Amino acid sequence: MIVMKFGGSSLESSAAIKRAAAIVRGRLGRHPVVVVSAMGGTTNELLAMAADAAQSKRSEAMARLGSLEELHRRESLELVSESSRKELEMILADHFQGLREIVEGLCSVRELTPRSLDAVASYGERLSSRIVALAFQNHGVPGVHLDARNSIVTDSRFTQATPIIEETNSRVSADILEIGAEHVVVIGGQLGATAEGVTTTLGRGGSDLTASLVGAAVGAEAIEIWTDVDGVLTCDPNLVPEAHPVRTISFDEAAELAYFGAKVLHPATVLPAKEKNIPVWILNSRRPESPGTKIVPGAVPCANVLKSLACKQGITVVNIRSTRMLGAHGFLRRIFEIFDRFETEVDMVSTSEVSVSLTVDNDARLAEICAELEPFTEVSVEKDRAILCAVGDNLRETPGVAARVLAALKSVNVRMISQGASLLNLGVVLSSEDLGRAAAALHREFFTERDPAVFG
Ligand code: ADP
Ligand code: ASP
Ligand code: MG
Repeated sequence: MIVMKFGGSSLESSAAIKRAAAIVRGRLGRHPVVVVSAMGGTTNELLAMAADAAQSKRSEAMARLGSLEELHRRESLELVSESSRKELEMILADHFQGLREIVEGLCSVRELTPRSLDAVASYGERLSSRIVALAFQNHGVPGVHLDARNSIVTDSRFTQATPIIEETNSRVSADILEIGAEHVVVIGGQLGATAEGVTTTLGRGGSDLTASLVGAAVGAEAIEIWTDVDGVLTCDPNLVPEAHPVRTISFDEAAELAYFGAKVLHPATVLPAKEKNIPVWILNSRRPESPGTKIVPGAVPCANVLKSLACKQGITVVNIRSTRMLGAHGFLRRIFEIFDRFETEVDMVSTSEVSVSLTVDNDARLAEICAELEPFTEVSVEKDRAILCAVGDNLRETPGVAARVLAALKSVNVRMISQGASLLNLGVVLSSEDLGRAAAALHREFFTERDPAVFG
């Protein structure tokens, strides 16, 4: 079996869904299982609609709901023949009625809990998976829909739930192995449910993780992530338009890139595939003939010291200085305990004996954290920062890389530097406004000449 995941931009319209069907049809011999994201733009709209509703902006919320319904209806009706039309109409009516009821509820309670956010967000994939399964049947692919909420079991950390691997494995393999022998199972990405059956999501971009979980559970021979670029590129193409595809990259390098912001892959995707030694491909659904990127278990020999650059925007730096005497022990433990208590993940850290600077990308609870830190520290916060991270296995052994990075960034104010413990990355923190210029400079320094075996 293989797992094929199609992202939102690969399902944004009837034409895109037809392209996906053609790609799957070409691989029927390899027994594909298909994981789908919501149709392009849908998740953002659903979340905005929920936010409007919870602020009692009923007409705005209903207008968003109306546009979503119009998009789904218009594009999906293009995809099915007369005989499937009734079934499609029922799916649309049923789902949009459900959403309308939730919107009314949010408008009256004026509150948006993580649990209700997940209920709303799940509709994107619930709709797309039903539509794609039906579209496949009308385009020569024997599609069968499977409700992810019966297969992907998670904890109850709504909006960023963690899958419970054993239970998920046994349900996915029981559900898919049998049906998948004759049919192409289509399952919505990103969503799951708790053991009690309450709908959860795995966080933004979580469909990649669903693909990897399903791949690991069925023992797939490959996991293909179909998206809108030619694979993992040497940098975010929105920042560096001349970024090049990387043909082969290791699991460890890909994980580091994803963690430091390369949106092309969700950071948790790599682990299930790596544990089962399943290669992951990143492929372009608009140019299926392009070779894409293969993510492999072992190190990838390369004449370039770096494989790629990752960028993460919207970062906040927190500088914390001890007001107690020098050498007081337990300082770091106290600090990290507070971040932990407020469930705030720390990305990068640099310390001296009495001060520590760290970065967070989610500052929702920062005010509460600062209040807890204040009795024993001086705290200052810098907003609108960005992380630019150089990633490559060769960083480990190549002398002079830090010097080249800093020389290339000589006209940029670097706020923090960190060489990760993995020895695969070298990251700097800078002002968001400098990010484009800094990324272009590093890209020029490290990717003007490229090893044709890796970047060919
Ligand atoms: P999908 O909807 O298929 O999941 P995403 O938008 O989540 O697609 O991810 C693909 C996008 O990631 C690309 O269009 C590109 O803009 C962005 N991106 C950021 N960094 C990289 C990178 N290093 N390589 C490739 N794409 C990247
Ligand atoms: N639709 C979701 C998002 O936009 C999940 C995904 O596509 O992976 O985050
Ligand atoms: Mg994505």
